[in-house]
This record gives sequence, structure tokens and C-alpha cells, in this order.
Amino acid sequence: MSKYWKNLNLFTKIMIGFILGIVAGAILGPKASKLEFLGTILVRLLTMVVAPLVLSLLICAAADVGDYKSLGKIGIKTVIIFLVSTVASIILGLVLANMFNVGLGMNTNLTTDAKTVEIPSTLDTLINIIPKNPFQALTEMNLLQIIFFALFVGFAITKIGEKGDAVYKFFSSLKDVMTTITDIVLKFTPYGVFGLMAKVVGTNGLGILIPYTKTIIAMYLGSIICMFLIQGVIMVGMLGKTNVFEYFKAMKEAAMFAFATCSSVATIPLTLDGAKKLGINEKVSNFVIPLGAVVNMNGTAIYSAIAVVFTAQVYGIELTFMQQLMVLFAGTLAAIGTAGVPGSGLVMLTIVLSAVNLPLEGIGLLAGIDRILNMARVVPNIMGDAAAAVIVSNSKDLLNEENISKIATE
Ligand code: ASP
Repeated sequence: MSKYWKNLNLFTKIMIGFILGIVAGAILGPKASKLEFLGTILVRLLTMVVAPLVLSLLICAAADVGDYKSLGKIGIKTVIIFLVSTVASIILGLVLANMFNVGLGMNTNLTTDAKTVEIPSTLDTLINIIPKNPFQALTEMNLLQIIFFALFVGFAITKIGEKGDAVYKFFSSLKDVMTTITDIVLKFTPYGVFGLMAKVVGTNGLGILIPYTKTIIAMYLGSIICMFLIQGVIMVGMLGKTNVFEYFKAMKEAAMFAFATCSSVATIPLTLDGAKKLGINEKVSNFVIPLGAVVNMNGTAIYSAIAVVFTAQVYGIELTFMQQLMVLFAGTLAAIGTAGVPGSGLVMLTIVLSAVNLPLEGIGLLAGIDRILNMARVVPNIMGDAAAAVIVSNSKDLLNEENISKIATE
């Protein structure tokens, strides 16, 4: 039996863990939360690697790309792809939420406590990307600050030529060590996924879901359409000129893992692994994927739009055209500001609801089913990062001649 288990590939093992988790949750009910520790161990193990992995990957990526201009072009193209796909996802969310009338027929007694956040100004947000202390950024796992610092170090390594070799070699070796730890930790994924699914199914009885059926359907449908149409057909197939089936095949472990853990950041090592299987130029994926895990959230964007329409309909407020337009802007900001950890999209709804003057109680109304909605939105969140990396990686014009030949000979 154990030999049979050993010979299965990782995805099959994760699927088995996933299904057994659902069965265990259904049988054990709330007692299944005792199994959550398996998931907690897995998420902690993978999160443990993220800060040093992102630091070393990005330092090497910046140093490898070589010149400032190439990296700048990659950066600009990446940001444009992130923004356009986010706006498209919000529009998709608005259409679906209006189609399903997600908030009609809800009663407001279901409100549960939910946190809201203070909204920092755009300038503060930008300034905050600069770390006061890179070591603090590492210990607090502030990924945007780590990315900023790493790019700087990478630039400096290139600028000083041979003198930077020792630092480059150190980080390149750190990158290999972290990748090896990731490979070892990944073996534990099926057990972790088992524990997480048992907990979700065991603690969310079906009863709680019924009043929210339309919202849940709109969210899951939105995520599926986003993944297959926006990210699959348009981004990967048409713009990235890559086989869509290969893309889904390469990303399936990452998608399952994200679904169970609800964390884009903890999924970074698996998303990178998927990108590698797809043959995406590593210099591009090492830059685009960690950045995307922090700022590019297509699923959260769909969710913001659904939450706005939901709240407006529950409170009987008619949304004007201007308000819907405002959702595009605020939803994009919220998706960018959402941290890649479980439940953060719910908290960031503060930005969108206050931008369109809707009652923040809407957040409390959605809090009870957040895990179920988070599972749906996190998958397009990570798939979108890989799709963006496909496009950037396939636009060879972004890399200078010398780098293209360097990549080609590797
Ligand atoms: N948890 C999600 C993620 O990690 C973000 C969200 O809550 O919307 O991508």
C-alpha cells in the first residue's frame, strides 16, 4: 500500500488528500477542526521559505536581466497586464453580480463581526514600499519592501561587475537551497490539504450557505470564467501564444494548493514550480510571480465587484453609473492592496464600500462565508500571475539581444 502511495504523482496525492478531507469533514462535523493542524504545519513550512526565496530569486533575476532598461520594460509590461486584467475581472464581477442579483432577498440579521481597515493614502502606500530596514522587511515578510530592496541589490551587482560576483553567488546558492527545501516541503502537501479541507467542510455546515447561494454561484462562476476566458484563452493563448491545456496542466498543483490554503503568498513556491514546468523564462517568472502574488489579484477584483452589488442590493441602494465606475478604480486599489493571506480580501472591502458610500456592514454580512468565497477567489489570483508571466516571457522584444542569446544557450 505504502509503495503504491509512493509511486503516485503529487497531483494525484493532493486530489486524494482533498477528497478524503471532504469526506472526513462531512463525517466528523465540527470535530474535524482538530485536523486543521496538518494544514497549519504545511502553510507555515511553505511560508517559512517565502521571504528568503523571494529575496534571492529577485536579486538574481535583477542581476541576470542585466541592464536597467530591460528590467524597466519588463516591469512596465507586467504592471500594464496586471492592471488591465484586474479591471476586466471587476467588470466580469459587476456583470455576474447584477445578473444573479446577489443581494436580493437577503436579511441583514446575518451580520457577523468583521474587521475594517483604515485606508492609507496612495502616496503613503507608495512610500511604504521603501523599507526603512531591509532586515525588518524580511522578518515581517513585507514582500513589496523585499522586492524593492532585492531589485536594488540586483542592479548594484550588475553595476559593479566582477566585484559583485561573491554576493551574486551567495544569493544564487541561497536560491537553490530554498528551492530544495520547497521540494521537500511539497511532499507534505496532500496531508496538509486533507486537514484544511476537513476543517472547512466540518465547520461550515450546509445551512449557513443557503441564504448566500446566489453570491457563492456568482463568485465561483466568475472565477471559472476569469481563469478559462480572460487568463486562459485571452492571456495565455492569444497574447502569450502558449498552449492553454499545457498551462492548466502545469498549474494544477498550485491551483489545488491555493484553493485549500487560501493564500497566494504561501503558494508562491508552487506557482514558480508551475511556471518552470511551462518553460517560462525564469528571469521573468522569478520577477513577475512574487510581485503578482502581492499586487495582482484577479479573483479578489471579481469579489470586490460582487460585494459592492451585494451590499447595495441588501440595503436597497441603487448604484449610479458613476458609482459603478468608481468600483473599477477602488476595486483595483483594493486588489493591489490585498495581502496574499487568508481572508485579507474581506478586510480590504472597506476601501471599495467606502469609495462608493455603501454601509460597511456589508463586510459583516459576508464574513460568515468568507472562507468559501476566498477559496474561489484565490485560484484566479495565482493563475493570473502565471498567465502574466507567460505573456511577458514570450515578448522577446523586452529582453536585449545579449540576454536573449544568454537565455537561449542555457
Ligand atoms: N486570500 C487571498 C489571496 O491570498 C486574497 C483575498 O483574500 O482576496 O490571494
